Amino acid sequence: MNNKKNIVITGGNRGIGLGLVENLSSMNNVIFTSRDRVVAEEIVDKAKNRSIEINYVLMDVNDSQSIAKASEEVSQKFKSVDLLFNNAGILLNEYQLPALDTSEKSILDTFNTNTLGVLRVCKSIVPLMKNGGRIINISSGMGQLIEMESGSTAYRISKTALNTITKILSNELIDNNIKVNAICPGWVQTDMGGKNATLTVQESVQKITEFALRKNFPNGKFLRHGEVIPW
Ligand code: NAP
Repeated sequence: MNNKKNIVITGGNRGIGLGLVENLSSMNNVIFTSRDRVVAEEIVDKAKNRSIEINYVLMDVNDSQSIAKASEEVSQKFKSVDLLFNNAGILLNEYQLPALDTSEKSILDTFNTNTLGVLRVCKSIVPLMKNGGRIINISSGMGQLIEMESGSTAYRISKTALNTITKILSNELIDNNIKVNAICPGWVQTDMGGKNATLTVQESVQKITEFALRKNFPNGKFLRHGEVIPW
């Protein structure tokens, strides 16, 4: 992947998503998704001041209609999508509770965004990957079965299931020349990761960017900082 790529990044208005937008937009064509038009416009204007063009579409990954509308806008701007980052995700407050005290609502809401949301976005964006492509699902070490500890039940379930979707799609999209991987971005200083996290957004997205654009891109793997890790 040496030339300019057409890239879609969900949840690009803050955190890791915004870091990816900022990192990738100077050398590529980037469309990010946001639920907030005002915030998105500010990001676009800031980039414009640096002579960088970025586009955004409004998208709520919980809402199929919103995804369909956003994808239609993407298809008008990009002849084909080369790279999709499924980054949008949530960690609800109940992560502090043990599994037996976690509400069904918290589990279902988290699953809806972190897991089904990715499948919904893929349903709309995969048909736009006309020349093959790459899908990177931002998962988490907290979804790793081999490292499974206690707490954060809703989040852990959603990310383990996201890894399952990653594996299934990596098999089913082979004939479309689309490669699908899940990555853990590390523990990152964002609203979700908190101030004590070990990595700055820039440190994490630098590794993700290197991986996303590298020549030998794997398929159906779980990786952190470009290295394969166990499921
Ligand atoms: P963040 O700062 O909380 O940002 C989350 C992003 O997801 C925001 O842009 C948010 O948009 C968007 N989002 C949430 N629900 C959405 C929905 N229904 N539709 C569309 N967008 C939605 O989190 P982050 O730390 O950057 O995390 C990004 C990804 O990395 C997540 O998938 C997370 O699980 C994963 N991750 C993070 C860490 C970490 O240490 N930070 C570690 C492992 C994995 P709004 O602004 O509209 O809410």
